[in-house]
Amino acid sequence: MSEKNNVVKKLEVYALATDPIHIGTGGYNIGRVDNTIVRDPITNIPKIPGSSLAGTWRYYVVLETLKDIKDKQPDWQDIKNENGDTIGEKLENYDWKNLPSSDIKLSSWKRFVGNQIMRIKCAGQDDTPDKNSDSEENTGHCGHCIVCKGFGFSKRDISWQGMLFFSDLNILFFPVFTYRGTKWITTSSRLKEIGIEEEAPSENKIRTKQGDEGHLNLGWLYLEVESRHTFCNEIKICNKQENISFTLTPEDVIIVPENLFSHIVNSNLEVRTSVSIDPITGAAKEGALFTSEAIPRGTIFYGEIRIFDKKGFEGLEEKLKPLPKDKELEDALKDSKHFYETLGIGGMTTRGFGRLKIELIP
Ligand SMILES: [Zn+2]
Repeated sequence: MSEKNNVVKKLEVYALATDPIHIGTGGYNIGRVDNTIVRDPITNIPKIPGSSLAGTWRYYVVLETLKDIKDKQPDWQDIKNENGDTIGEKLENYDWKNLPSSDIKLSSWKRFVGNQIMRIKCAGQDDTPDKNSDSEENTGHCGHCIVCKGFGFSKRDISWQGMLFFSDLNILFFPVFTYRGTKWITTSSRLKEIGIEEEAPSENKIRTKQGDEGHLNLGWLYLEVESRHTFCNEIKICNKQENISFTLTPEDVIIVPENLFSHIVNSNLEVRTSVSIDPITGAAKEGALFTSEAIPRGTIFYGEIRIFDKKGFEGLEEKLKPLPKDKELEDALKDSKHFYETLGIGGMTTRGFGRLKIELIP
C-alpha cells in the first residue's frame, strides 16, 4: 500500500498569531514559569504540534457542517430502510433524498453522503471505540462523515487513519522588539522551508534589509549587522498572493544565525501571570497566582497539510466506501478555518489566548 499511497495534494499553511498562543505540556514545571509550552525536543523552539492542529480542525469542520445540515439530516430509520448491504451503500442510495433542491444552499462537501449521519460526537475523542462502526447507538464517531473519513476514526471492527496529515506548525517569523521598532527574525533554514534561498549570517551577526545599521538590539541581545539580505517581495508571505491577508515587508525581516534563533525566541516569549478564581466566592484563591508562557502575538507559523489520494486506498474494505474527494476535503478545511479567528487553539482561550489567522495555499 505504501507505494500507491501517494500524496495527491499538499496545502501550505501560514498562520498568524493574533493572540499569544499557549499549547501546554500539561504538567507543572519547577523553574521560571508554572505552565510551560510544547517545544521541539531537538531545537527547543516552541511549536504548535500537528496533533493540536488536527484536533481543533476536526472540531471546526464538524461545527461548520452541522451549522447548515443539522435540521436537514434524515432519520437513522430512513437510512436503515434504504436499499443496500452496508450503511455506506444505504447512505449513497439515500443521498439526501428528502432535501428539496430549492433548499440546497449547501456546498458540495457538506452534501457528502456520509454527512447524513454526522454528529457532534464525530469531533473530539470517540467515547465508544469499543462499538462496531455500524452500531445503531447514537454515540461516538459515526465512521461515515467527511470528518471521520478525512481525519480518521477507530471502532471495534475497523480502524482508519484518515486521509489528512497535519505537520507541526513551526515558527517562521518571530517578532522581537528592537530600537527600530518590532522586527521579525527568521533563519536561512526556515526560509528554505518555504522555498527561499538566503545565505545565513556569520556567527553572532545578523542580516537586515538595509544592512548598514551597524548594530541592532534583538530584545536584550546586541548584535552586529553584517550585510543586507536579498529577501525580496516575491514571496507569498510578503505580498501579492491574494490568499494571504497578512503581510511582512523585507524591512520587517532580520535573518539571524541558526544557533541564536532558539535563544532569542525563548528569551522573548510572553510570560503572563494569572490568578485562579474560586468559583464559589468569585474571588482569587489564596496562593493561586501562576505564570504561563506563550508564543507572542504577531508570530507567523508555517506548516503543511497533505491530502492522500484515495486511489492509494484501492482494495480498502467495503465499509470505508465512499471516500471524499481531495477537493471536498480541501474545501472543508478552507470553509472552517475561520473558527481559529474566534475560538482559537490551545489553552487559556477564555483568557485572551489562542486566536490564529490561518491561510491555506494549494
Ligand atoms: Zn462522523
